[in-house]
Parts: sequence; structure tokens; C-alpha cells
Amino acid sequence: MNKIEHLGIAVRDIEKSNELFEKLLGSPSYKIEEVESEGVKTSFFKIGESKIELLEATKEDSPIAKFIAKKGEGIHHIAFDVTDIEKEVARLKKEGFQILNEIPKKGADNKKVVFLHPKSTNGTLIELCQEIE
Ligand code: ZN
Repeated sequence: MNKIEHLGIAVRDIEKSNELFEKLLGSPSYKIEEVESEGVKTSFFKIGESKIELLEATKEDSPIAKFIAKKGEGIHHIAFDVTDIEKEVARLKKEGFQILNEIPKKGADNKKVVFLHPKSTNGTLIELCQEIE
């Protein structure tokens, strides 16, 4: 794994949170993107090498809606940048981690993504992401 690519934060209202994070970070969101298959609207902020991804549910059965109903707003996942996502998945599977989707899917921000179940990672949802060339 190369670095923490971004932190994902679940929010109720992405418009309001965009204003809040713009004030907090001193720069505006550089990309707002809806990932329809996941039922989320995302907004990205850059801070040096790292990013913050805000996530708002666009439908009631979206994983973000479920997360907020259960835990409230807050950090939803940590995303690690990887060079070869298939290889990382194979390695982590062998190490006993529970992979939520073994076949990488198309995520926001031009990435292939795989998620690890929080049950196997001390309670934190982990995302692996690889830039699509
Ligand atoms: Zn993410």
C-alpha cells in the first residue's frame, strides 16, 4: 500500500458540509460526483497529498444512509492507494481479511475500488483504490 489516499466522511447534507469543509480547509471542493450504483453523492477536497471525501446518501437503502442511521455523521472509511489492486486483494485474502467485493468496482474520482469488511479490520471500513489509467 502506498499511502492514505483519502478519508471518507458520511454527511447528511453535502451542500452544508461543502461550505463547512471549505471554511475548515481554506479551499473549495474540486469535484462533486454522483456514484449511482452506490447510492451516493461525493465531494472531494485536497489537502496536500491527501483528500477528504464527503459522502451523502442519494437513496434510503444506500450504505451511507444505513451508516448514518446507525452511527450518525462521521468518518466512514479510510482509503489506501495501491498500485495493483488485484494483487493486494489476493494478498489480504490470504491474510484472512474479509473482502466485500473481490472484483474491483468503479468508484468515484476515477478509481477502481475494493472494500474490506470492518469486522475483519477492528471496526473500520477499509477501501483499496487504484487510479484507472
Ligand atoms: Zn472513498
